[in-house]
Amino acid sequence: MNQSSNQNSLIQKMSLHKNAIFLFMCLGVHVAYMIVFFLMKANFLSLLNLISTLFFIVFIVIEKNKEQSERIIVISYFEIILFSFNSELLTVGNYGFIYFTLGMVSVVFYLAPSFGDKRFRFQIIGMIAALGTFFSNADFVEKMLPASHRLTSEYAKLFYTINLAIALFTIVYTSFFYEVELEMVKNTLDYNSNHDALTGLYNRRFLYRSINRESNTFITAVILDIDNFKKINDNFGHDKGDEVLQKISECIKSYNTSDHYACRWGGEEFVIYYHCSDAETAYKKVSSLCSKISSSVILPDNTAVTVTAGLSEGRPKDFDSVIKKADDYLYIGKKSGKNRIVWYKNEQELASSIS
Ligand code: GH3
Ligand code: MG
Ligand code: MG
Repeated sequence: MNQSSNQNSLIQKMSLHKNAIFLFMCLGVHVAYMIVFFLMKANFLSLLNLISTLFFIVFIVIEKNKEQSERIIVISYFEIILFSFNSELLTVGNYGFIYFTLGMVSVVFYLAPSFGDKRFRFQIIGMIAALGTFFSNADFVEKMLPASHRLTSEYAKLFYTINLAIALFTIVYTSFFYEVELEMVKNTLDYNSNHDALTGLYNRRFLYRSINRESNTFITAVILDIDNFKKINDNFGHDKGDEVLQKISECIKSYNTSDHYACRWGGEEFVIYYHCSDAETAYKKVSSLCSKISSSVILPDNTAVTVTAGLSEGRPKDFDSVIKKADDYLYIGKKSGKNRIVWYKNEQELASSIS
């Protein structure tokens, strides 16, 4: 479990730096080819890779400024088209450098999303460049380059295979990170649609979805409302009010067990839905939650923040009437002095005490 979450966070970190990693990979390929071609005495090709190496060093330095990241990918795309074209001419199409351009057609799409529709234009340019190179290289080289500058095809098959593998790897690399990012966006959307932004508790939508999945057992619902919250806002400011909401939510979360869902119902009200606890058990749990809140959420004037709660039970399909009943109890709790839990055992006594 721990190992897989470590793996996920490593992949997420890599995803953040995917453009830089890609540029380093390009640099590595060019450095390797520069050396290999130098050793093969293919000086033109070695020089071409030296120029690309220098370009990629500059790209990597500029890419450190993340705002330039996608622009650098697009520039490197055109650099690679040019490199691919020149290398194809020098090798008379035998070494498969054309695959670099084809590999980059997917890179420019995945790694530069903010270029929007322009990416399609870039892709078309890349494909035309690849086709143009393919149809023109032999004739062109015949006319322009003396035979002494053409590479022998002794290693052609090997280079061809390596270049094809590099292009395929590039496509897999970009598709992988595209998938990772889609997954991250999906998780964020899922989280946002189920959670309250201020407190991180579930929201009302999540609660209703969960209730719809419940079997028709007996359930207990509790509605909690902060006492005199308007005064807290008025006396200490809205930010302090937000902080109180967050602290109370932390207390609620610390009681997060599998027997209930807790959500921010709205404003300064929370609902706890016990799907397998009877009223007695739920009452005990809510009592200890209320004690925890009043002992740990303290205002700047050293007064404790308290809550009033209404607790009622019923069946999941009748959830709306269960919550209505809990809300009626909450009203009695507020009217009879606040800072208490009202349920069927004390509602009559408290109701009769209201003048
Ligand atoms: P009672 O004890 O009877 O519950 O009184 P109260 O003051 O808590 O209740 P009232 O309904 O009069 O006020 C609730 C206040 O909660 C009003 C509203 O401005 C404030 N509120 C609602 N949502 C938020 C929020 O997200 N942040 C802050 N800071 N205040 C909020
Ligand atoms: Mg209220
Ligand atoms: Mg209130």
